[in-house]
Amino acid sequence: MAAERPGVTPIQLELDPLELPLKHTFTIARSSESVAHTVVVRLRWNGLEGLGESAPIARYDESVDSVGAGLRARDLGDDPYALERLLDGLAPAQKCGLDIALHDLIGKDVARPLWRLLGLDPARTPHTSFTIGIAGIDETLEKVREVGTHPIIKVKLGKGAELETLEAIRSIYTGTIRVDANEGWTAHQAVQLLGEMARFEIEFCEQPIPAGAPEQLRWIRERSPIPLVTDEDSKDASDLPALRGCVDGINVKLVKCGGIRGALEMIHTARALGLRIMLGCMVESQILTTAAAHLSPLVDWADLDGPFLTARDPFAGITYDRGKIVLPDGSGLGVREAGAVSLS
Ligand code: MG
Repeated sequence: MAAERPGVTPIQLELDPLELPLKHTFTIARSSESVAHTVVVRLRWNGLEGLGESAPIARYDESVDSVGAGLRARDLGDDPYALERLLDGLAPAQKCGLDIALHDLIGKDVARPLWRLLGLDPARTPHTSFTIGIAGIDETLEKVREVGTHPIIKVKLGKGAELETLEAIRSIYTGTIRVDANEGWTAHQAVQLLGEMARFEIEFCEQPIPAGAPEQLRWIRERSPIPLVTDEDSKDASDLPALRGCVDGINVKLVKCGGIRGALEMIHTARALGLRIMLGCMVESQILTTAAAHLSPLVDWADLDGPFLTARDPFAGITYDRGKIVLPDGSGLGVREAGAVSLS
């Protein structure tokens, strides 16, 4: 038995479902939520604890329960470096939670931050956008005022009143605006709306139409003054070749593609295909957002605003300097339980 070898202990798993109350009810084109449900993955091995998290996406038929079932059924053995074996065959949200916890554990084992293990330059992090969910005009303006001087916002659209909403926002906000329709338009609506909203100086539009129609995206792109980025259409690296020439960029989320390894695969594939890269998040705790932030020196755009959307977060890691992502120095993810003293 592996556990009998000197100095080697089995990896122990604990799963903690996490409820994150939101500052504002968060509405996008297809759903609305006031509490986000994620699951914290804790791995204990050789006196260390690796922290991971998954925020399963209902659109892809994954849930906190399905993540728990998949991970509990896994034989984790005694070697956290055996990433290929440990992650093989898991569904993306399951893989995401375990992959992040393993990377945290490995970073703690070698006493190095994740960005160092990946060979990245922490000075090259992008600025993040701050997301404004769908609401009436008055509430939307109130949220934009709360954003203050933050340099980039991402406005959720796709339920009507798009031009009125953007006109009102533009009247009080001079920073960069990107928009996300979350599959809310038809191709014809997209061309018409994007043409009209160009006057509000929109940086790009995320996922204008339902996923699964790259040639329609190409048709829109040929007629749109605003660049297009996919999110629902780009779950993992295998989705990207079909998008070449159809869009300008893709949104990478750790929960869609299975964590750090899946995200690196997507990022490198996108670069090879000439696609620009955005790094996004779900409504989630700082474990997941910080994990994504460690990859952010590799990308063009970041939408890592999970910590701004929650009313309280039991974890702390990523920080921001006027919107620019600041990576923590601690080993692994550098995430600590909020309020605790960091010993790393
Ligand atoms: Mg999106």
